[in-house]
Amino acid sequence: MVLDAPGRPLAARTIELRDPGPGEVLLRVAACGVCRTDLHVIDGDLKQPKLPLVLGHEVVGRVVALGRGVERFREHDRVGVPWLGATCGHCLHCLADRENLCDTPQFNGYTRDGGYAQHMLADAAHTFPLPDGYDDAHAAPLLCAGLIGFRALRFAGEARTLGIYGFGAAAHVIAQLAIQEGRQVFAFTRAGDADSQSFARQLGCVWAGATTELPPEPLDAAVLFAPVGGLVPAALRATRKAGTVVCGGIHMSDIPSFPYELLWGERVLRSVANLTRVDAEEFLALAPKVPVRTHVQCYPLAQANTALADLRGGRVQGAAVLMCE
Ligand SMILES: [Zn+2]
Ligand SMILES: [Zn+2]
Repeated sequence: MVLDAPGRPLAARTIELRDPGPGEVLLRVAACGVCRTDLHVIDGDLKQPKLPLVLGHEVVGRVVALGRGVERFREHDRVGVPWLGATCGHCLHCLADRENLCDTPQFNGYTRDGGYAQHMLADAAHTFPLPDGYDDAHAAPLLCAGLIGFRALRFAGEARTLGIYGFGAAAHVIAQLAIQEGRQVFAFTRAGDADSQSFARQLGCVWAGATTELPPEPLDAAVLFAPVGGLVPAALRATRKAGTVVCGGIHMSDIPSFPYELLWGERVLRSVANLTRVDAEEFLALAPKVPVRTHVQCYPLAQANTALADLRGGRVQGAAVLMCE
């Protein structure tokens, strides 16, 4: 399913496959998660995508061919491919264990073709074995919603009371992780979104309400997954002194000005960008131990545009996943 230009629907097309280059693996794709970032690419919020482009960065597939020098995998291995597609290995950030901030990174489904397809070429060093206990569809959301959510949750530190703004795919994964760690989770959704609020309560959140409400007690930390800048002052207002507000999305509408008083008291406001391979290894080992159970809404690959429209319209509970075989 190919994006020819921002703003256009994806088109089904046959693309000639090339053999995997050095360090690459060729995958037969089984399932690919649909992420809000894909909407940001389609909408042109993320600049200069590869065009035409195959979206998709929560890819579950099986290795069908190995490029020269790949020793990490064998044919038929089931693997996962996340957002981080390749890193340079020698810039300031790569050398400081922050490869998520690499100066010349590649991203799957953005600067290289991703997994809205039957086959995909991936950099083997940025491809991961997947835990057993998840079928292909349920494993897919672990690869972005899970991974980025995990990184965002780590930045919430020791928070006992945790607010999550925007209760979509990432939120439903990290709520489970946070609850298992003994935290109290407060879920914030669009006003009137009773389905998402009851979904949050079913997962064990102690409170669910609208983003316009204040929680019944102050938050030690908040994580924002909704790409709405106006939620930043709202989350700061709900967070106690020395608390942290983490922005987990790759794009957000402008943040309105707000009184300094909301940040005063040593509150910390920060973003989370991408993931490192260490995040992937740690989270994929942790998820089955929690255990994180993903909730998926599956669509055939050919219905990618419907899945994207449902995500945009708030009609997905948990994660949308394309079945690509
Ligand atoms: Zn780098
Ligand atoms: Zn994503």
